[in-house]
Formats: sequence, C-alpha cells, structure tokens
Amino acid sequence: MYLDSHAHLDDERFQKDFEEILARMKHSGVTAMMNIGCDLPSSENSVRLAETYPWVWAAVGSHPDDADHVDEARIAVYRELCKHPRVKAIGEIGLDYHYEDVPREVQKQAFRMQMALAQELSLPVVVHEREAHEDGLRIVDEFPDVKGVFHCYSGSLEMAKELVKRGWYIGFTGVVTFKNARKAVEVAENIPLDRILIETDCPYMAPEPYRGRRNDPSLVPFVAAKIAQLRGLAPEDIGKATSENARRLFCIEEGK
Ligand SMILES: [Zn+2]
Repeated sequence: MYLDSHAHLDDERFQKDFEEILARMKHSGVTAMMNIGCDLPSSENSVRLAETYPWVWAAVGSHPDDADHVDEARIAVYRELCKHPRVKAIGEIGLDYHYEDVPREVQKQAFRMQMALAQELSLPVVVHEREAHEDGLRIVDEFPDVKGVFHCYSGSLEMAKELVKRGWYIGFTGVVTFKNARKAVEVAENIPLDRILIETDCPYMAPEPYRGRRNDPSLVPFVAAKIAQLRGLAPEDIGKATSENARRLFCIEEGK
C-alpha cells in the first residue's frame, strides 16, 4: 500500500477527470495522501479535500513563491486552519533561489515565520528548498524542535545526512526515475530506509515512463519501484516502509 506524501490534487488540471483519478489510485494500491498547500486558496482547498475524503490529509502554508503574502494576519489564518484535526503539517514552506520570484530576504522571513508557527503548534513541516541549501539548513537549525521533510530533494548526500541526523525525512518524486538523476539516486541509495518518503508532487514531476505528462497520485508506485530497484528490495517493501514513515512524521492514524 502506497502513501503519496506530497500531492496537489486540488489543482484545476484535475477537475475534469477527478473521479477517474481516484479509481486509478485505488487500482494502483495508493491508499492515502497528503494534499499540500502553496498559498491561502490551495491551503483551504487542501482542508476541504481532507474533510471530503477519509484517506486525504492536509498541509497548509505558503510556498516561497507566495512568501510576499506572509504576514501576521496570514499566519493567524493558517493558525485557525491548523485547528482542523485533519491538518497534519505546515507546508509547503521554504526557499527557492532558482526562480527567486520573491526576494531572498522576504522568502527567509516567511520561512522563519511559518517554522515558528510549526513550533508553536507542534506540527511537522513540508519544506521546498531549491538552490538554497545553506540558508535552508541554517533556518532548520534555528528551530531544533521542528521536524519535517525536504520534499523533491535536490541537495547533496552530505546535506541529506545532516538532515537525517537532525531527525528529518527526505522526499523523492519522479525525478529519481529520470536518466540524469545522479544526485537523487545517490541519496535514495544511501540514506536509512526509515527516513525516506515517496511523493508525486502532482501535477508536476511525473515519473518515467510518463515524464513530461500530467502526474497524478496513481503514479507514486513508479517512484517506489525505482527506489526498490536501487536498494534490492520489492516495491511493496518500499511502499510499506515509506507509508509507515509518513504516518510517523505526520501522526496519521493507521487504517485506510
Ligand atoms: Zn509541491
């Protein structure tokens, strides 16, 4: 049984064939997922999805692209949303110096404010970090009580080991199946199995052989299969281990 630890199933690209996707997920053995917010509307949508479907849980927060909307008023709204029992994390939050749509200082400020909220509420976080490894780790170290996952991990093995040492998890998307995915492969091979999460990040990051197409949660077993191959295990073993890891991190009850 597979758990997609990072999906954006509220994306408008899923509106037309939503029911078909749910049927495909069931068929693929994907029995649970975390729907992740990027801004206020998608955070509210995540909560709504989690209310509607018993196998969906939600994260709320502002992605670095939305960092310029994070102020005390927005934090207060997220604090309210977090009172919902099916909200299990703050995310996705973090730093993106690749696109840098928002100035770095603004991104850092928003990241810190949301890490502080996670600390206050004793919730884990879902971190998006791209080309900002040093600042990302520095801010993580400012909040030693906060744990979480670096999703769609793109850093080095050394940094992954640093995160694991701090009790964090590493999330892998379809990128690990790409031919040029040397770095992600190295990390997926070498970190402890009990620190690995799998995810689609759908509608983005479709795994091979669907690369470039719209991704959806029914494809997360392809990520598990690749990691299984790297580690000499069965895909089901990776599915089971990563589901347990996600349930442990996000405090999601068993069943379903
Ligand atoms: Zn995402």
